[in-house]
Amino acid sequence: MAQKSAIAIGAHPDDIEFCMAGTLLQLRAVGWKIHYFNLSSGNLGSVTMTSSKTVQTRAKEARAAARILKATYHASICQDLEIMYDIPALRKVAGVIRKSRASIVLTHSPVDYMEDHTNTCRLAVTAAFAHGMPSFKTSPTTRPYGHDVAVYHAMPHSLQGPLREKIVPGSFVDTTDVHEVKIEALGAHASQQDWLNTSQGMNSYLKTADDMSRHAGKLSKKFRHAEAWRRHLYYGFSRTEVDPLSTALGNLHKINAAYERMIKKGT
Ligand SMILES: [Zn+2]
Repeated sequence: MAQKSAIAIGAHPDDIEFCMAGTLLQLRAVGWKIHYFNLSSGNLGSVTMTSSKTVQTRAKEARAAARILKATYHASICQDLEIMYDIPALRKVAGVIRKSRASIVLTHSPVDYMEDHTNTCRLAVTAAFAHGMPSFKTSPTTRPYGHDVAVYHAMPHSLQGPLREKIVPGSFVDTTDVHEVKIEALGAHASQQDWLNTSQGMNSYLKTADDMSRHAGKLSKKFRHAEAWRRHLYYGFSRTEVDPLSTALGNLHKINAAYERMIKKGT
């Protein structure tokens, strides 16, 4: 039987807050357990601190963010720009998914502007695929589980693929009620605010997240703040086609009819 458990798997500390935390919070509000897992320590995310100091600082910040979200924290397993689609990483990610017993896996877009995000997605997808395969060994060894899993992909940075093509959202989750908490969790990543201002010209860390969710809300034509998703094909993940985000969230979830038309047409 499916369990009310969801896991967000991001590449770097703060990715979850930018594009997945609102959905986690809405699931928690309807009784789901939520899990928080960034694969990378975020060790390159500073121009002033040493790598080891940055790792320490960012782990502390990520733990604080998970506490604000009331999510179970899972420690990172690798370093920035070193998230590889390889067997050791796959065994670790599969171990965390099995531990969470998740029915919903939230992760990055299958393609995104940088490879850490893309590889995180690939690891999360295969690890979710292996959730019920006893012969696939995880690290540490973790009991497989048989209930259905659905994988949802967050939108890529600026809703574009790496070739600058526009990516259309498949559905929206209303995050208006939980927006304040989502921003509070993002604010826990204090070391990143200055860093992104200098490295990527984001004039304000928190304002960027605010703008992103307002933009998704506008695209939904229904919600003030939203997060957008694309649902993975169910083959191998569940017995039949399921959409637990829609089932769990009801009116807080909206399918994007334009996306459904697009995939039916095959363009
Ligand atoms: Zn990232």
